Amino acid sequence: MSIKTAIVQVALHTPSHSGVGDLLSYASERQLAPGTLVRVPLGTREVLGMVWDADNATGELPDGATLRPIAGVLEGVAPLGLPWRRLVAFAARYYQRALGEVALAALPPQLRDLRPEQLARRLRRPVAAADGSQDAIQNIALTAEQESARARISSENGPFLLFGSTGSGKTEVYLRCVQAVLEADPASDFPAQVLVMVPEINLTPQLEERFVSRFAPRYGAGAVVSLHSGMTNPQRLKSWLAAHSGTARIVLGTRMAVFASLPGLKLIVVDEEHDPSYKQQEGARYSARDLAIWRGREQGAKVLLGSATPSLESWHASRPPTPEDPEGGRYVRLHMPSRIGAGALARVRRVDMNQQPRRAVFSAPLLQAITERVARGEQSMVLLNRRGYAPVLHCVDCGWKSDCPHCSAHQVFHKTDRTLRCHHCGYTVRVPFHCPTCGSPDIHPMGRGTEQLEEQLGTLLAEVLRPDRTPARIARIDADTTKAKGALEAQLAQVHSGEVDVLVGTQMIAKGHDFRRITLVAAVQPDGALFSSDFRAAERLFALLMQAAGRAGRDAAYMAAQGTQCEMWVQSFHPKHAVFEALRTHDYEAFAAQQLKEREEAAMPPFAYQALVRSDARTQEVAQGFLTAATAAAHAAGLPGLDVVTLYPPVPLTIQRVANVERAQMLMESSSRAALQRFLAAWQPVLQTTRSQPEHKGLIRWLVDVDPLAI
Ligand code: ADP
Ligand code: ZN
Ligand code: ZN
Repeated sequence: MSIKTAIVQVALHTPSHSGVGDLLSYASERQLAPGTLVRVPLGTREVLGMVWDADNATGELPDGATLRPIAGVLEGVAPLGLPWRRLVAFAARYYQRALGEVALAALPPQLRDLRPEQLARRLRRPVAAADGSQDAIQNIALTAEQESARARISSENGPFLLFGSTGSGKTEVYLRCVQAVLEADPASDFPAQVLVMVPEINLTPQLEERFVSRFAPRYGAGAVVSLHSGMTNPQRLKSWLAAHSGTARIVLGTRMAVFASLPGLKLIVVDEEHDPSYKQQEGARYSARDLAIWRGREQGAKVLLGSATPSLESWHASRPPTPEDPEGGRYVRLHMPSRIGAGALARVRRVDMNQQPRRAVFSAPLLQAITERVARGEQSMVLLNRRGYAPVLHCVDCGWKSDCPHCSAHQVFHKTDRTLRCHHCGYTVRVPFHCPTCGSPDIHPMGRGTEQLEEQLGTLLAEVLRPDRTPARIARIDADTTKAKGALEAQLAQVHSGEVDVLVGTQMIAKGHDFRRITLVAAVQPDGALFSSDFRAAERLFALLMQAAGRAGRDAAYMAAQGTQCEMWVQSFHPKHAVFEALRTHDYEAFAAQQLKEREEAAMPPFAYQALVRSDARTQEVAQGFLTAATAAAHAAGLPGLDVVTLYPPVPLTIQRVANVERAQMLMESSSRAALQRFLAAWQPVLQTTRSQPEHKGLIRWLVDVDPLAI
């Protein structure tokens, strides 16, 4: 006897490199559309899966067939659409991960974890109605530069790179483009939707406020939702379902939002597109910015990237045509050089630290400048990209250093709670009173972090009074002060309300915030990045300093009322370095031109394409040995693409050991992205086979990073 059964292919999150294929077959009593969410048995568990595109053959199952039936269908959630499935399939292929892993990781965790009856209950909850009062949207008049950008975005296809100074009103342009898309709402069967991405979770509340106040009166409170990892799982599920069903018209989120199901997607905005946090650093190491470009093209949505300091990739891709290069780049570059209200950009002051007393943290002129600002009631911001009190503790007598026993890194001295903490593995001990090696009490911090800056400023400004004769108030914002939920919001609110005179912090405070009364920004020790082995270090430092400078003088009216000028201070032992020269004139274009010339001569991105394979093992020999063997196997097999892909020898990572794991990597480079992709695809099974050989037994894991940001 046999039964009529449909055979469905289901994408599952199977353990990576488990050897199980991307899709598993299950039996179903009825045909199921691709994109349908199902629960299926896997081993002894029952897991979430997604019906995937394949020949859903209806067949006679032979007697005793082992095909297991699906356990159930998640009724109430419409199947994920074809454009979404294509995006996931592309991301999996391009970033060398399993399809099921990427597809399932792109869904909110509760879809995986909730039992079907729990989910059904969740789905029955009423969602905030998306009908607003249909009020007209209150708009401010655009500047000529904003208007010109808006007009071109509306009439051309893009993708667009909006190159606008800090405070030039880029967000206002986003808002107007979003509005245009929602209002156009073509007579399709699905309402138009927009995706707006920002790099950091802590930037979403401010942006959400602007979008809600603009669009909620017209489209209803449920029309704007957020999607980021700082949300609770129930919140994430709710936002995700709203986007999937179309009740949400605008989704604001971090990189993960690029995978939101948005069947009506018509516009994607990527704010601060240069920001490294758009690149995922674990699992599928995707670039949300690059996927946004791909998704926009596939799904027929316009893509708008915005930045004051674009990535060199996007800058190069938006180059205008020239006689030698009549095609130009594939992006449309739009320029907004002026600050709103004719506000001036910060004047850059460089202090040559060679001329300052040795060990001075704050040079005399910088301290003087901060003092004057405090006395006038203006705010200053002091930036140092290192948290803790000091990066290392050392013994004067025997030279002992506070090395982490598990990593090739120092344990950082945190004075507030008297601990030594490893920022790589988390290993924490109490600060010893005596040198653990020789017993000497003469142990001292070396170098400085934000805790120390805060303490020193407290001493240096002890006598300085504000206009109301009260003492200066200093605050610090970094990953240590903002661990508690809501802490960052509370601390930022204090800055906004003027309760803080000097704000000390890491790069966390340099990005995006629309501070109104900061008139001075100082980078006290930016030199570290100048001589880094990472070829992108200068680009990142320049972007960070420009962003930081952009936090000063954002309110032209306030500046005029104060009769003050905003300043960006840089203390450096190399004040004439090209990065600081370009910063001085706020000349991103000159900086980019110089960097691109170097990159072109050295055949580096964006003139070449790269990928890394990283391997982790108990010993460095095993980690490197695996990579060497896999390289030899690739050559022996004569893999496709190999003729135009350069494979470099394996090397240890800069921080070679973390949590007792030895780490090695090797670089691959090619002038052809397609060839690199062909090679990686063909190499994947070779890497698997190599791994299973007995001599690589000590290997813990390996992974591929396509278009890596740091090498
Ligand atoms: P950016 O994103 O480029 O740094 P924003 O969009 O945040 O700049 O704009 C900076 C400030 O100028 C904001 O406070 C914003 O409300 C204000 N602003 C933007 N556009 C205009 C405009 N056309 N008229 C008046 N104020 C504007
Ligand atoms: Zn000692
Ligand atoms: Zn450690």
